[in-house]
Amino acid sequence: MTQRVTTVVIGAGHAGLAASYFLSQRSIDHVVLERGDVANSWQRERWDSLRLLTPNWQTRLPGQPYDGPDPDGYLGMSEVVAFVQRFAARTGAPVRIGENVTSVRRVDDEYQVLTSSGEIRCRAVVIASGACNQPSVPLLSSAVPASVEQRTAFDYRGPGQLPEGGVLVVGASATGVQLAAELQRSGRPVTLSVGEHVRLPRTYRGRDVLWWMDASGVWDQRYDEVEDLDRARRLPSPQLVGTAERTTLDLNALTAMGVELVGRWAAVRDGRALFSGGLRNVFSLADLKMVRLLDAFDEWARTNRRDGEVGPGERPDATRVPDSSRLQLDLRSGEIRTIVWATGFRPDYQWLDVPVVDPKGYLRHDGGVVESPGLYALGLPVLRRRKSTFIHGIESDAREVIDHLASHLAVRG
Ligand SMILES: Cc1cc2nc3c(=O)[nH]c(=O)nc-3n(C[C@H](O)[C@H](O)[C@H](O)COP(=O)(O)OP(=O)(O)OC[C@H]3O[C@@H](n4cnc5c(N)ncnc54)[C@H](O)[C@@H]3O)c2cc1C
Repeated sequence: MTQRVTTVVIGAGHAGLAASYFLSQRSIDHVVLERGDVANSWQRERWDSLRLLTPNWQTRLPGQPYDGPDPDGYLGMSEVVAFVQRFAARTGAPVRIGENVTSVRRVDDEYQVLTSSGEIRCRAVVIASGACNQPSVPLLSSAVPASVEQRTAFDYRGPGQLPEGGVLVVGASATGVQLAAELQRSGRPVTLSVGEHVRLPRTYRGRDVLWWMDASGVWDQRYDEVEDLDRARRLPSPQLVGTAERTTLDLNALTAMGVELVGRWAAVRDGRALFSGGLRNVFSLADLKMVRLLDAFDEWARTNRRDGEVGPGERPDATRVPDSSRLQLDLRSGEIRTIVWATGFRPDYQWLDVPVVDPKGYLRHDGGVVESPGLYALGLPVLRRRKSTFIHGIESDAREVIDHLASHLAVRG
């Protein structure tokens, strides 16, 4: 039997639940379809030791601020799951768990949504299925000798899963630096392959660096004001970790722990991994961009007379370039037993039978308004603001996208 509902929301992560909150406020009948459980990706697709890199005081959903005892701390995974589940329960979101969406197509003036349980016809669809559904692994991984185990951040839970021996972590964004540190601490010698990255100190002038992003308005910058939107949407996550001590986890910290840094992994030849040289340039670029951002924070504090509230200006040391970095590594020698790909994530729209996905697999949309009438998206990078993919960034995006959806429904009668 075909079921009818005005709007279908796909995904019960925080983005889908925020969409549901604003749909309910406007009395638009809807269902939230979730293939797993509420907060599924936090439950099944993250490693055990992960903590949010956004501080607790910043963690909020519509009508639900963080109200625990440690505003400056960072939630662990079970706490994030509880926070999102509490929101779902409090808002009474009409979530149907265990219902996988297998197809969405446009039929006449509406959408046909096929799920593991049947067919739904609706006038609008909100895609909140996540920006990080699968690991993004370079093709050269297929040339790695079979004797080396390969993992991604998706199937990595902790060091205990890995054989003893050397680990090559590929990618030095938030995921890569966190996994490199954890594996090095476990006694496995780690080599980290470093490409373009975003360096940030955990604290600046006594405040969490994300306080600065928030207060100075960087995170509120709208997508239509960003100079190179494509690039902003593809930016790697900053090298940050959430710890009680508010530790900075940059490449200098990793070098001090004994992690060996090599350049970007360029090719595999005869069982050897070949790395680019030029670490010095890669490091200077990341340092330069960090210093520019800190300069902008200083300028903001000065012009807004906030200098008195924060500590004195400081600059982190430049990233230290190793005396010599290896340009190749023999993957058959046994030195490296495991490769961990921390090379990013991508969305998965295999179930979407509407021609709105570009050749690279990304959704074409303007601030979450997809090119097909009545089709919307939430939770994608810089969807409407720089903070769009973060938990605290969803409220303003979801409100605006659901406003648009409501006017679409009104126009269509
Ligand atoms: C490693 C990592 C660390 C992060 N750290 C932070 C942080 O510190 N602070 C922060 O604010 N943000 C962080 N984020 C970003 C962001 O908050 C999370 O990615 C968050 O999970 C995104 O929420 P979402 O609702 O958009 O997507 P998701 O939480 O991924 O929810 C999408 C849901 O859709 C479901 N789904 C997908 N396809 C289908 C389908 N076909 N049918 C039915 N259901 C489907 C999935 O099961 C999932 O439950 C991090 C992300 C990652 C990957």
